[in-house]
Amino acid sequence: MPERLSQVRAREAPEADGMPDPERLLRKSLRGFAPYKPGTTVDEVRRTYGIAHPIKLSQNENPLGTSPRALAALHDVDALSIYFEDDHRAIKTRLAARYGLAAENVILGHGSNELVQLVFTAFVDPGDEVVIPKPSFGLFKKDADIFGARAVEVPLADGVLDLPAMLRASGPRTKLVFVCDPNNPTGTRVERAAFERFAAALPPDALLVIDQAYREFMDPAGTEGVDILARRPSTLVLRTASKIWGLAAVRFGYGYTSPQIATWMNSVRLPFNVGRPAAVAVLAALDDDEFIARSIDNNERGKAYLSGEFARLGLHAYPSAANFIAVEVPIEADAAYRALLERGIIVRSGGGLGMPRRLRVSIGLPDENAAFIAALEALLPAWRSAPADIGAVG
Ligand code: PMP
Repeated sequence: MPERLSQVRAREAPEADGMPDPERLLRKSLRGFAPYKPGTTVDEVRRTYGIAHPIKLSQNENPLGTSPRALAALHDVDALSIYFEDDHRAIKTRLAARYGLAAENVILGHGSNELVQLVFTAFVDPGDEVVIPKPSFGLFKKDADIFGARAVEVPLADGVLDLPAMLRASGPRTKLVFVCDPNNPTGTRVERAAFERFAAALPPDALLVIDQAYREFMDPAGTEGVDILARRPSTLVLRTASKIWGLAAVRFGYGYTSPQIATWMNSVRLPFNVGRPAAVAVLAALDDDEFIARSIDNNERGKAYLSGEFARLGLHAYPSAANFIAVEVPIEADAAYRALLERGIIVRSGGGLGMPRRLRVSIGLPDENAAFIAALEALLPAWRSAPADIGAVG
């Protein structure tokens, strides 16, 4: 069970006398709430295991680093003493033009995470229904809990979003419907025709939120969220600078939607939620076709290599449309994750992600992928001879 917020103690401060009862002070909707836990950091592994150069394949970052054009632009960033424009007209116009849209169709956030939160802030009252696939990106459920929404979680079918079941779960009380395509943590995508039928059949008042953080890694035959928006105005397509452009640390997410929905979301966000460094970096990265092509190429090769190795090792992996793969392991995911950690390989355990027998592995550089496979192969015999449901040996 994840630790509830009411049980979480202050980490730095010593035990303070006179702290209020969390059941009285915390909002009711937060009492059973489990905070988001990011993956293990490289520093933690260095400190805990004394491994100088851990390999991090846990947060679906760009293994090639950051777009060189963005880095160069960041180097020259100036005027940091001045609040940057709040409207971001130039960058919205550029992002919109890629899809033949207008600046009014674009909403910007401090990472696409913020845009998910803004959707709840603007549209969800306590008790409203929100349809969420399970497992999917954890923030959808987390924000539903924070806002006191009723999360209607719809299990995946064979690792893929079950759109007919999600449609059946959506009704007049549904405010939001989340589709993550490709889906985190499974990496799978839905068929375009099925997605289009689903979008057309949803109640028109429900806002369809299509999270396409990994869209650039998907094959062109996959769904382009913006095409759905063109036919269904109550749609929000979320994208991010964090993955393809390698800008996770600057925090920049963007969304395409109808002007009215963008206006409503904008009216509840914090002023200046996107800073000048983020805007400058994204404006430069947008045109960095060489870096984008290289990133996709590295991802395709790595995916082919890892998929081939998983097949050779007899491990089932969901077909991935993203920059990570969810692979099945013969023991509990948490134990498998820890065993790899001791060998300096950081992956994400599916344990906390709704996949108790799978690891989510980001596609890295060729030598990182090979080091992961070597560690996995070395551990497998012990895992296979371990009684089911106990921890890893070795
Ligand atoms: N959506 C999905 C599906 C993700 O996996 C992630 C990153 N883990 C995000 C959104 C968050 O992206 P950002 O860095 O833009 O907040």
